[in-house]
Amino acid sequence: MSLTRTTCPYCGVGCGVLAGADGTIKGDPEHPANFGRLCSKGAALGQTIDLEGRLLAPQINGATASWDEALRLTADTFSAAIRDHGPDSVAFYVSGQILTEDYYLANKLMKGFIGSANIDTNSRLCMASSVAGHKRAFGTDTVPGVYADLEEADLIVLVGSNLAWCHPVLHKRVAEAKAKRPEMRVVNVDPRRTATCDLADLHLRITPDGDAALFNGLLTHLAETDRIDAAYIAQHVNGFEAALEAARSSDPLESGADAADIQEFYRLWAETPKVVTLYSQGVNQSACGTDKVNAILNCHLATGRIGTPGCGPFSLTGQPNAMGGREVGGLANMLANHLDIENPEHRAAVQDFWGSPTIAARPGLKAVDLFQACADGQIKALWVMSTNPAVSMPDADGVSEAIQNVPFVVVSDVMARTDTGYLADVLLPATAWGEKDGTVTNSERRISRQRAFLPAPGEARPDWRTIADVAACMGWGAAFDYDGPADVFAEYVRLGAATRGFDKDLDLSIFVDADYADLLPTQWPANDRRFFAEGGFYHPDGKARMLPITPPALTVNTGFKLNTGRNRDQWHTMTRTGKAPQLGAHLAEPYVQIHPGDAAELDVAEGDLVQIKNGYGQAVLRALITDATAKGQLFAPMHWTRQRSASSAVNAVTPPVVDPVSGQPALKGGVVSAQRFEAAWYVFAASTAEMSPSQDYAAVARIQTGWQAELAGMTAPDDWSEFARALTGQAGDIAVMEDQLSGQTRIAIIRDGVLQALVFSSTRPVALSRSHAVSLIGTEVSALQALSGRASVDQPDPGVTVCACMSVGINTIRSAIREGAGSVEAIGAKTCAGTNCGACKPELAALLSTTDLPMAAE
Ligand code: SF4
Repeated sequence: MSLTRTTCPYCGVGCGVLAGADGTIKGDPEHPANFGRLCSKGAALGQTIDLEGRLLAPQINGATASWDEALRLTADTFSAAIRDHGPDSVAFYVSGQILTEDYYLANKLMKGFIGSANIDTNSRLCMASSVAGHKRAFGTDTVPGVYADLEEADLIVLVGSNLAWCHPVLHKRVAEAKAKRPEMRVVNVDPRRTATCDLADLHLRITPDGDAALFNGLLTHLAETDRIDAAYIAQHVNGFEAALEAARSSDPLESGADAADIQEFYRLWAETPKVVTLYSQGVNQSACGTDKVNAILNCHLATGRIGTPGCGPFSLTGQPNAMGGREVGGLANMLANHLDIENPEHRAAVQDFWGSPTIAARPGLKAVDLFQACADGQIKALWVMSTNPAVSMPDADGVSEAIQNVPFVVVSDVMARTDTGYLADVLLPATAWGEKDGTVTNSERRISRQRAFLPAPGEARPDWRTIADVAACMGWGAAFDYDGPADVFAEYVRLGAATRGFDKDLDLSIFVDADYADLLPTQWPANDRRFFAEGGFYHPDGKARMLPITPPALTVNTGFKLNTGRNRDQWHTMTRTGKAPQLGAHLAEPYVQIHPGDAAELDVAEGDLVQIKNGYGQAVLRALITDATAKGQLFAPMHWTRQRSASSAVNAVTPPVVDPVSGQPALKGGVVSAQRFEAAWYVFAASTAEMSPSQDYAAVARIQTGWQAELAGMTAPDDWSEFARALTGQAGDIAVMEDQLSGQTRIAIIRDGVLQALVFSSTRPVALSRSHAVSLIGTEVSALQALSGRASVDQPDPGVTVCACMSVGINTIRSAIREGAGSVEAIGAKTCAGTNCGACKPELAALLSTTDLPMAAE
């Protein structure tokens, strides 16, 4: 099987992948982002490329249509809205999932031909505050460093970044560097104790948004301990005095971290010249995210610790092409090639290059405002590409209603069923990863190719082509006449050359004569090039700016502060990772982490359901009681949609509050009340057939041989057998067992000797080994075995999956520990757990300390 060199479609690390049409997936040993490593999500890509659930033909109002009909209707309706209501009556909402070529054309169409800047992207939810912070400090949106800095640093400071789960391959690079150089120090700044703490010599447990006070205090400390680089500031930086004065008036203890830990952090930072500060959504997804970014940048600028090997601030992007979107002007307030929409010379140059009839003269609506404009009736036609705002935006229920309020909605997607797709008048089938050709840019400015290794299925088309076809139907065919993505990329590079006269960082000269087909992963402006060691900033005077930062006032919340984030093995709304059973096996249900003290006050026990709510909506989630989350705070993952759960989409309760500079929503800034969800019944079910999540509480997940479901409701069914058949969609012989000890009713449905479904119900959360139950589905098993709820001696139950890459369960790991595996490495040698991406190593370490060992023989 020949393998194709491509790039992972998930996070902003941008790992190289070798992929085959048979589902073979390997890390690309030659890709400089990962050198062959892959995390659990990347390693499972082969399980996500089937056609189950795919959108394979255009649809108009739910009926299959031809491409000609769908394109014509889209073009005509957008044209009519523009004619009748002006260019700002239409909008595009695109995605960090689409490729640079798609992004470039969507921007060209909206900004240069329609004449509006109403195009924004889900990257607004991810790193807009980093963009704004970079622009305020550097004069442009430049990430100064490269990944190699992680190996060269002597101190790595992680701020608001659960690297082990969200950027696992970078976590592994740092872990390996630290293993080689144990003197390397890692500090983790996070309100939660996350898996990333395994690397940390010091965990500063700040209050949410305490980072601004923490870094203001650091700046003050650096000044007081004579660590300021006066020469660098004199030559290259403005605003030092004002920034320091503001920093001096804030109290680092307001960060919420322990005083001694703060002093140790400051000492380490001051005494370690080679320091990298890595930050991501914990900094960005905040109502003061841009200020927090600048508080971090201030410390690096004041010490000149930027742009040299092992040194500098480093913003990590969430999505695979968030950076590419930034480069081609994917945000409503930018133009392509890092040019400014508000600069008339920049606008004129881009319009001239495009030969376009117009150019948007002012920034468009940012994501939250865009959907508010939909709610207000201002937007008459909306095109959503490769994203799911009805569930991923804050106030998701409100956004869902806002989309329904738009007279004409087009959704381009790879999947037939998404929460946003259900609201569309026109569905356009897009090619998926494995079928697409183009480029993406990762967090270190490295442009890599995504290459197709599968044919486009059905009538699916690449997004760049769909955009060009709509543009042609609107009358601009000549300007959108491309042979393929190479043609689009070449134009993007030529635009860079045509605008080189403007002093900007984004220089694509290195790609001018590049062979697109064989393009190697390449950083702009040159491989391994860092920025700003010798100044050269992009404000008109060539200097950087330090900003005076005032930390947010501490507020006393009347409810719980809700932090949201990601699971180790899932990506966004699970449309792809949800297909891989091994990825769902780690955390198969939506949950909320709650501190033991808070759980006791709410009378919530482990496994109970908790309802969180506020004025925006509500969600029901399984309680995970842990002091990893501080008292008064909750944490819930953002992956569950209405397709997978009945009422567990957490963005129903995240507020549409934004950072005033960047417009990025404060997705980690919700405040909710919480209470035990008083269910009358609970069910665990598994079936060879798909089950729909339609009860009061329901969460479904893929298993190897079908589906599993966790359910609960307020009113118990009259007949559990009838319920079981309706839920699981199964005919066959039914066996029922009432277990007096556990209080459970157990039902098995068997057809032709093969177990089709199991349904275990109880008035309390169902106690059962899920891994054992699902292992029986689709196998030949007796009713008695199926209903026993226990594994037999000769087939031990592996337990809940801990290592998704190698499919190793908790019981297997505990057995290995009891048999003498006394270290994470020894567990790996015995079970293979932790030997691929290593993201489960923190959990292995925790099991080492919590597993009861057998008593030594007398
Ligand atoms: Fe993909 Fe994992 Fe690499 Fe991110 S770290 S790009 S999800 S393989």
